[in-house]
Amino acid sequence: MASTETHSPIHQAAELILGAKRIVVFTGAGISTESGIPDFRSPGGIWTKYDPEDFTYQKYLESPVCRRKNWEMLCENSELMTAKPNDAHLAIVELERMGKLDCVITQNIDSLHQAAGSSPSRVIELHGTVKWVRCLSCDSRYTAEEVISRFEAGESDPSCPKCAGILKSATIAFGEPMPIRETMEAETRSRLSDLFIVIGSSLVVYPAADMPYYALAGGSKLVIINLEPTHLDDRAQVVIRGRAGEVMSEIMTLVRRGISASS
Ligand code: NAD
Repeated sequence: MASTETHSPIHQAAELILGAKRIVVFTGAGISTESGIPDFRSPGGIWTKYDPEDFTYQKYLESPVCRRKNWEMLCENSELMTAKPNDAHLAIVELERMGKLDCVITQNIDSLHQAAGSSPSRVIELHGTVKWVRCLSCDSRYTAEEVISRFEAGESDPSCPKCAGILKSATIAFGEPMPIRETMEAETRSRLSDLFIVIGSSLVVYPAADMPYYALAGGSKLVIINLEPTHLDDRAQVVIRGRAGEVMSEIMTLVRRGISASS
């Protein structure tokens, strides 16, 4: 764990937050591992258990067998539906209450930012959410609980009650177009930020990983909090290798004290 001595990375990150007015926080699977949801690459992570080929958008449209595998995966990874936010999610809520947060851009599909108390209007979900299911024909929306209980009751390919269309989790599958409004808004807000904080992302999934580049192009400062190195570490003002919840708690302790005044 990094120390909180003056000039430590924790201290520098707190100073940057105190000096910022438009913070954009960019989160990846790593912010939710302390809530019990495995990230992409860890042993036991979702794609170490399933073949991503079975989860492409095209296959989903074509194959009832693939649709059944998708519902099975959601049932088997129920922590995605039941996990609780951790200290890192709560720290971001606190930044919003301090009036410093412009928005959270998340790659996560667990909706834990909203569960923590972030205003839904300030959370941009680039890859959608597991909490909802939509009809690919008439765009009706249903809760995931509702559709999963139909699957568990024996419907292997539950269809839309209104139009019999194909139902799909409101997440972005491999090969599915990115949501246009969210992607454009994320780009604009990244460019306008004065501080861009990455928490728990390997920064390898594009176009989400373009966001820190937009922020840098707009003159924003960059802080990266991640367990492993990323290819943007050398462009960051501060890099902290540590667990998101613990690191954000330490940073927020200093921010609350207004460290600028005391250092
Ligand atoms: P990733 O798995 O590629 O990278 C996660 C990063 O977080 C890793 O570099 C890892 O070292 C780091 N990390 C893990 N635990 C951490 C912790 N406690 N504190 C700090 N860092 C930690 O994840 P990604 O960049 O989000 O991309 C993977 C894709 O998988 C995304 O598209 C995302 O939508 C999806 N995904 C989402 C969830 C979720 O919703 N919780 C979970 C798994 C995968």
